[in-house]
Amino acid sequence: MDVSDRAAAPELEQDRERMVEEQIVARGVRDPRVLAALRTVPRHEFVPPAERGHAYEDRPLPIGAGQTISQPYIVAVMTELLLLEGDERVLEIGTGSGYQAAVLARLAREVYTIEIVPELATRAEADLRRLGFANVHVRQGDGYRGWPEEAPFDAILVTAAPEHVPKPLVDQLAVGGRLVLPVGDFYQELVLVTRDELGVHEERLLGVRFVPMKGEAERREEEHR
Ligand code: SAH
Repeated sequence: MDVSDRAAAPELEQDRERMVEEQIVARGVRDPRVLAALRTVPRHEFVPPAERGHAYEDRPLPIGAGQTISQPYIVAVMTELLLLEGDERVLEIGTGSGYQAAVLARLAREVYTIEIVPELATRAEADLRRLGFANVHVRQGDGYRGWPEEAPFDAILVTAAPEHVPKPLVDQLAVGGRLVLPVGDFYQELVLVTRDELGVHEERLLGVRFVPMKGEAERREEEHR
C-alpha cells in the first residue's frame, strides 16, 4: 500500500472521526476550522511505525529522542486559542513530529517551525514535504530566540515548557497577535499572551504537562537559581 492509500485508509478516517468526536468535541472545542483540520490531517503519518496503531488514542506518544507528540486534545485546545482565520503567519517552537505544524498549516497562510533535535527536525521536514504541506518551513535550532528574520508573527505556539515566558517571542508578536505556551517546571500552566495597541497582556489558563524547553531557556533558569 503506498502512502496516499494509507493516508486515505477508510478505517483510519473512522478512527480520526472518533478521536475528534470523543476526545475533542466532547470536551468543548468548537472552532469548526480547527475540527475540520483535525479530521483531515493524517496523525498516523507523523508517528513511528511501531506506534501507528495508537495514533488516534487519547494520549501523547513517543516519537524518538525522548520526545513525544502531544495528546490530540491538547493540540486542539492550543490551536483553538490562536483564533486563526486563514491569512496568518504562525511560528511554532518544538516541531517534534511535525503534526502540530501540519494542523496549523491547514489553518494559516505560512507556518515557521523550529526544532532543537536535529534528527527530529530532519524527519519532520521530510514527512511534511512527503504529505504535501508546502507552507511549512522547518528550521533546526534553539527556538528560545524565535525566528527574527520572519517576524512579526500573528500567532506563536510553543510545545515545550520554559520556566518563564521567553522575551524574544513576545517581541516577535504582531499587534493583535496571540502567543500560547506552557510555562513552569513540574507544575505547568498554559499561558496566553496577547499584544494590542496598549501593550502586552498575560492570562493563565489551565494545568498542562509538556517536556521542558531545552537550550537557552534552561541556562537562564540556572542563572536565576
Ligand atoms: N509539536 C510537537 C510536539 C513535540 S514535543 C508535535 O506535534 O509532535 C516538544 C518538542 O520541542 C520536542 O521535539 C523537543 O525536542 C522540542 N524542543 C525542546 N526545546 C526546544 C527549543 N529550545 N527549541 C526548539 N525545540 C525545542
